[in-house]
Amino acid sequence: MSVLLIAEHNNKEVRPFTLNAITAASQMDGDVHVLLIGNNCGDVAKSLSEMPAVKKVLHAEAPHYENYLAENFAPLVVKVSENYSHIVSSANTFGKNLMPRIAANLDISQVSDITKVISADTFIRPIYAGNAFATVKSTDAKKCITIEPCETSGGSAPIEKIEATEEFTLSKFIKREEVKSDRPELGTARVVVSGGRGMQNGENFKLITDIADKLNAAIGASRAAVDAGYISNEHQVGQTGKVVVPDLYIAVGISGAIQHLAGMKESKIIVAINKDGEAPIFSVADYGLEADLFEALPQFLEELNKLNSIQK
Ligand code: FAD
Repeated sequence: MSVLLIAEHNNKEVRPFTLNAITAASQMDGDVHVLLIGNNCGDVAKSLSEMPAVKKVLHAEAPHYENYLAENFAPLVVKVSENYSHIVSSANTFGKNLMPRIAANLDISQVSDITKVISADTFIRPIYAGNAFATVKSTDAKKCITIEPCETSGGSAPIEKIEATEEFTLSKFIKREEVKSDRPELGTARVVVSGGRGMQNGENFKLITDIADKLNAAIGASRAAVDAGYISNEHQVGQTGKVVVPDLYIAVGISGAIQHLAGMKESKIIVAINKDGEAPIFSVADYGLEADLFEALPQFLEELNKLNSIQK
């Protein structure tokens, strides 16, 4: 049996989280089929079919698939899932909304937020806000899995058109509100600069913004900074915010509570700036600077400016 991966996309391009999920899915079974549900999304089908890890694209189109509504997607996934051993999606809002409906319909237990595939039925997933990792083995015949954050060209998988299921009329798509930003998306950015309660107020976040501009970075925040109104909640990193795995994570004025670490401690390189040398963030940091952020950040910016002028 094969793996069925549900693609997340905007009818124009595949979302980066889906690419991560494809890589993990191919470790469960080499035969990965991608289910693309949308409207006028032929270009997405083509780009998926060109991914080497993808063996087949199942493509369903209908006007009621134009905007993602889990109530409309779930019946089609359940219908198609008959021939598959694994149903897989990314562990973000998309997957967290869709997959429990599919697991419930198929009467199987979902394996959530896996970070590693050991074998076709055994996975590693974080528990206790990422403080420990559990190895879990699923005995269900069919496995419903979400994956935490491939080669993307060179393949030639066939694209098979499949029938849409009926529109679900009890739920309706009303509108999408998205914050428009020129910055990289927090969930997929290679560099993230985050501020915490130590920033003291929203205006001081400009110190973070200036550095993020120089590094082409996304801006993150601790929950304390969000709750205090320094910055809006789509920037929150952590257990109840976004999980980020950038190449570089810079934590400024953040103590390093376990709920914050749960969202960033897998980052490749962690830099912490904190005036308290005992702050727990230093225990996960690769580079720690014990300093007052109001002195350190302007100096950091000055150095980045010098570097920029040398490069020009
Ligand atoms: P603090 O813990 O107050 O730390 C501020 C830090 O700034 C201190 O270490 C201090 O030394 C330093 N500082 C102060 N002034 C300066 C200065 N001038 N220069 C340098 N350093 C300075 N938190 C999250 O972040 N994300 C989550 O998703 C999340 N989910 C949660 C879920 C639950 C169920 C619960 C109970 C809590 C959750 N929290 C989450 C909250 C978490 O427990 C912490 O309260 C929060 O992370 C603290 O944020 P902070 O580090 O910015 O603030």
